[in-house]
Amino acid sequence: MIRDVAYLDYNATAPVRPSVAAAVAEALCLGANPSSVHRPGRAARRLVETARVQVAALVGAAPDGVVFTSGGTEANNLALAGARDPLGTLIVSAIEHDSVLAPARARKTGVEIVRAEANGLVDLTALEQALERASGPILVSVMLANNETGVIQPVGEVVRLARARGALVHCDAVQAAGKIPVDMTRLGVDLLTLSAHKIGGPPGVGALVLRGGLDLTPLLLGGGQERGRRAGTENLPGIAGFGAAAVEAAADLDRLTGIGRLRDDLERRLKAAAPAAVIFGAAAPRLPNTICIGLPGIAAETQVMALDLAGVAVSAGAACSSGKVRPSHVLQGMGFDEAAARSAIRVSLGWASTEADAERLVQAWTELCRRVGRAAHAAE
Ligand code: PLP
Repeated sequence: MIRDVAYLDYNATAPVRPSVAAAVAEALCLGANPSSVHRPGRAARRLVETARVQVAALVGAAPDGVVFTSGGTEANNLALAGARDPLGTLIVSAIEHDSVLAPARARKTGVEIVRAEANGLVDLTALEQALERASGPILVSVMLANNETGVIQPVGEVVRLARARGALVHCDAVQAAGKIPVDMTRLGVDLLTLSAHKIGGPPGVGALVLRGGLDLTPLLLGGGQERGRRAGTENLPGIAGFGAAAVEAAADLDRLTGIGRLRDDLERRLKAAAPAAVIFGAAAPRLPNTICIGLPGIAAETQVMALDLAGVAVSAGAACSSGKVRPSHVLQGMGFDEAAARSAIRVSLGWASTEADAERLVQAWTELCRRVGRAAHAAE
């Protein structure tokens, strides 16, 4: 982790945990292919299978259902393309990550995008109507927790409505895993997406977890790895690191009450410094680590840059993959206008966050609000 920075951007990437770095290094040094039948190959295979058990345990799934991928993006694409083949109607929510929305939009026909309510929860009435309109085999994809607002979605209800129409349900649990308990069986979903770098694991590795008995059409062909569900030599260091991160994330769930308290206190102090600020999703159940806060009239980039200069790392709404900040499609999906969607930043805490980090943000934010206030008065 970069020293002298208060890193409050865990929903973008959580800093790697020391035990993960050790597991990655060990696997990297093993230097063997898990498909090889010799002794080093068998040792590599053991690492993969151990990680499979560890990742499955984090979400209460059977290890057999875990398909390792190159990350959450690939897992989401694989779920949408491979869960139902042929697929009649794909139903996704408007607040999904782009790795769900983009493949959904690419379908052009046989797709429904369901809006969210202003509180950040998927609109279940709109979902029910979309299910009524749907034809052919149906797949519904709704995330467990939103990456920008942290709002926890009513996935149990989504499953109930979907089942009534014989639909399969995919759930992107990338942001929920390690922040709230996730139990795939209790949720009742058919497929679940995970990403290692959001739980203190290495980037570039994730998983699509399938419930028992579900078939999957692979996206990548050309090898029998992952029981024919995802071709390509396994990312051994990444997978070993993912397993280690899953163990730590599960053990850390107990500490999240403390993170929640830190978040609540931080939120109260940010609001006190800027009473006009809006906390998006505050009225709904939320992850204990996330704050999505908007400062009316001040572009998110301006806020992020000012905080960065003060040594505080946060994101502008959604992390921007191209370096360009677009208005948040999540806030727009919740019915907010473009101005609101351009003014929101995301603060997200995690396993190594401290009160000192929170304090630094409060100081920098208070200074930012003071300067903004002065500039506004000067313009009057
Ligand atoms: N889904 C959600 C909700 C996310 O927040 C992200 C990453 O930001 C992804 C999927 C993509 O995961 P990855 O970065 O592993 O491709």
